[in-house]
Amino acid sequence: MSVRVRYAPSPTGLQHIGGVRTALFNYFFARANKGKFILRIEDTDRERYSEESLQDLYDTLEWLGIQWDEGPQMGDYGPYVQSQRFDLYQKYAQSLLDEGKAYYCFCTAERLDAVREQQKISKSKNQGYDRHCRDMDPAEALKRKEAGDACVIRLKVPLDGKTTFHDEVMGDISRKNRDVSPDPVIVKSDGFPTYHLANVIDDHLMGITHIMRAQEWIPSGPLHVILYEAFGWTPPKYCHLPLVMGKDGSKLSKRHGATSLKDFRLGGYLPEAIINYISLLGWSFDDSREFFTKEDLEELFTLKKLNKSPAVFDYRKLEWFNGQYIRLKDPESLKELLLPILQKDGVISDPVTEDEMGIFNGAFPLVRERLKLTTQVSEMIRFLFKDIDSYNSDDAIPKKMEASQVPGILDSCASLLEGFEDRNDEENEKLFYDKSVELGIKMGQILQPLRVAVTGTKISPPLFESIRLLGVEKAEARIRALSEQISKETA
Ligand code: GLU
Ligand code: ZN
Repeated sequence: MSVRVRYAPSPTGLQHIGGVRTALFNYFFARANKGKFILRIEDTDRERYSEESLQDLYDTLEWLGIQWDEGPQMGDYGPYVQSQRFDLYQKYAQSLLDEGKAYYCFCTAERLDAVREQQKISKSKNQGYDRHCRDMDPAEALKRKEAGDACVIRLKVPLDGKTTFHDEVMGDISRKNRDVSPDPVIVKSDGFPTYHLANVIDDHLMGITHIMRAQEWIPSGPLHVILYEAFGWTPPKYCHLPLVMGKDGSKLSKRHGATSLKDFRLGGYLPEAIINYISLLGWSFDDSREFFTKEDLEELFTLKKLNKSPAVFDYRKLEWFNGQYIRLKDPESLKELLLPILQKDGVISDPVTEDEMGIFNGAFPLVRERLKLTTQVSEMIRFLFKDIDSYNSDDAIPKKMEASQVPGILDSCASLLEGFEDRNDEENEKLFYDKSVELGIKMGQILQPLRVAVTGTKISPPLFESIRLLGVEKAEARIRALSEQISKETA
């Protein structure tokens, strides 16, 4: 049996970490088994559908470099968009009606509300639909429907027995049929199928062999198996993926930080880092290996190494991975990523000038060593391209020091720059160190105002290297300018 798996998102929001993990695991599983990865768009919920979400899905998969074997516009089992398959769902729902496994329900929203209200008051154990129309004479029901009475189609869930499905990760999961959702709607009054019906029919017709999806879907498992049985079909294998939590142990959400791939995409992350880090959310290769490229995972991924217990999403760890992958990137492609960011932030012109390119190339080796996010590049090297019009002098004043002391320190620094370029870093460092001893302050208390003067920020490439890149003359002018500004402010 050759593996056929699918990612079946509903375009009702931006792609997030959990969804993308599902997509990646299905994709890797297909590749590792020389099977097929299928993309199916589950767009039956027309109220929550959005064009923007669909575009975001395509953008995300493209950015990650995830190519599907079958999906919209390609494959022999299509269409792969549920809204284009409505006739099929009608046909299969009709077959359940014909066999007495489903029935028309004419209950109005008011009646259902009243039932719910009553159940609440009587604290009844039976919640939900009261199976009111289940035993209506089918001929009578058909007559009413044909006369134009609004109705839905409900599945007749058996009242006795239990339903069990085997999950490759969680083991056997059983539920008494009585406790499975009481006769859920499978076709809505507007003729649209619900998720359960469309999902089961499509998985069967598309020959899906394994269903890999988030654990949130476990409660739907028994119902789906009942549907498979009603149709006389064999269910695929199930494989529910562990939850993804924030560090505080609650389900990962916006409260913890960015969760949409769009935010990560625009926030300076590389797809290599995202793929690597996400692959560790609920999966492991062994106890030690952490680094995996997409190509590695296409070979190594196995269901056996999926975890039962929730995975914790660690933003710092992802950022660390990102820094590693920035340094692994070959220099030319990293430059191609950084230049547009500098242009977008107005640090360099578009097209970039020869002068700017020269400065950028000079700074590149230093930046490359320090970036955690590609987007940090602008802040890091803006000072090489742009004059500093005015300083945030608070940044320049070291802790436990009076602002009025700082101009004097800066002036000494300016004097020390004479001959700067003829000395190596060590010699320069010694000079600044001796100065700090002479002034009776710490080395850091000299370097902080100096750094802010030269670069305008507290974070920059190494200070002496920054001075060299900027040019000693410009550096000196900036030091004097900051000194004057603070003198004026404290006068
Ligand atoms: N459309 C469902 C979703 O958005 C698919 C769930 C499943 O994989 O069965 O997650
Ligand atoms: Zn009813």
